[in-house]
Amino acid sequence: MLELVKVEKFFGSFQALHGVSLEVPAGTVTCIVGPSGSGKSTLLRTVNMLESIQGGAIFFKGELCGEEVRNGYRVPVSPAKAREQVLSFGMVFQSFNLFPNMTALQNVTLAPRTVRGLSRAEAERIGVEHLSRVGLADKRNNYPNELSGGQQQRVAIARALAMEPEVMLFDEPTSALDPELVAEVLEVIRSLANDGTTMVIVTHEMNLAAEIADQLVVMADGRIIEQGPPREVLAHPRTERGRAFFAAVN
Ligand code: ATP
Ligand code: MG
Repeated sequence: MLELVKVEKFFGSFQALHGVSLEVPAGTVTCIVGPSGSGKSTLLRTVNMLESIQGGAIFFKGELCGEEVRNGYRVPVSPAKAREQVLSFGMVFQSFNLFPNMTALQNVTLAPRTVRGLSRAEAERIGVEHLSRVGLADKRNNYPNELSGGQQQRVAIARALAMEPEVMLFDEPTSALDPELVAEVLEVIRSLANDGTTMVIVTHEMNLAAEIADQLVVMADGRIIEQGPPREVLAHPRTERGRAFFAAVN
């Protein structure tokens, strides 16, 4: 469904991604781990077209993402195509970024109404459905400051789901939470995995990765250094860096 081929990303002269190749089949969960600064967020941001790439290619459902070939040259895709592609991805960040002056339901229905052009009634029907999915239908009329961090993150997940993306991208969804609030968010992510949602999850939660990932990816210095079924990668890291990383997080 999603394929990265030798992706190169530069910030000025600093190279953040060095020829990263990754395949994410439909209905699978990919967990990405690795030390700070290894390029995990950058990788998600290139997929989501928040960052341009300087080499390689990203394909979504067999089509070049963010770019197309015209007369033998790679050029940015048309705005209409870019919009369609961007809407294929839902993103959840570490900081939930809810709109503070809107209720949970208003946060969830905003993009369906303004971007997808749904009627208020239809957006609210979908919004309540997704708030129920994260266990928060009863909090629909609460404002973010009336919700716990875990509840706010679940609203953020519902907000991304309400756009009905084909792939969900998570960037350390539990890292900003107090320890006692982590479990409820992991529970939601687990249930999405059980429902066959295609997901790429950057996380420090090795237990989550071991449990739900079809593939575990370890990044270091802008490269993928380990990749495979979590059981295999955790039991038999191929690289010294990989071994050292797992030793440090356990
Ligand atoms: P963390 O675990 O701390 O979130 P990460 O693996 O997500 O780290 P990235 O945020 O992807 O790491 O950053 C990878 C490298 O790219 C870092 O060295 C970072 O300083 C650099 N970088 C990221 N964004 C930019 C930017 N906009 N401009 C310049 N350098 C950047
Ligand atoms: Mg990051």
